[in-house]
Amino acid sequence: MCLFTHVAAGAIAGALSPTLYAAPILGLASHVVLDILPHRDIDRMRYELILAVIAIAAIALGGALSVKVSLGIAFALIPDIENLLWKLGAIRDDQKVFPGHRKFLPHGMVAGGSSIGLQMAGSAAVIAFLIRRGV
Ligand SMILES: [Zn+2]
Repeated sequence: MCLFTHVAAGAIAGALSPTLYAAPILGLASHVVLDILPHRDIDRMRYELILAVIAIAAIALGGALSVKVSLGIAFALIPDIENLLWKLGAIRDDQKVFPGHRKFLPHGMVAGGSSIGLQMAGSAAVIAFLIRRGV
C-alpha cells in the first residue's frame, strides 16, 4: 500500500492498542494485512514520501499524535525501508524478507488506479476520526 495508507493504519492501530507495548505489534500487523490486499502503489517515490509526511503532519497538527499512535505509525512504516532500498537499487527483489513483500506472504496483486483514490479516501477518514477522537 501507499505510505500514507500505512501511516493512517498504523495510527489507528496505535490509537486503539490496549497497551503501549502492543502498539508496535499492531502497527507491524497492519502493514502485513494491507500489503497482501490487491492495491496500487504510487510509482514516484517523492510523491509517496510527501503524502506520508502530510498524513503525519495532519495527525500531529490535529492533536492526535500520542505515544501509542507514534509507535503504531513508526512500526507500520519500518517494513517499507526494504522497499525503499529495493527502489534505490541497494537490494534485489529476492532479498526482501518482510512477510507481504515477497517471502512468506506474497505482495498483493496490482489493482487499478482507483485503488489510490480509495486509499486516500480511507486514510483521510481514519485521520479525521483520530483527530475528532483526540488523544
Ligand atoms: Zn510494504
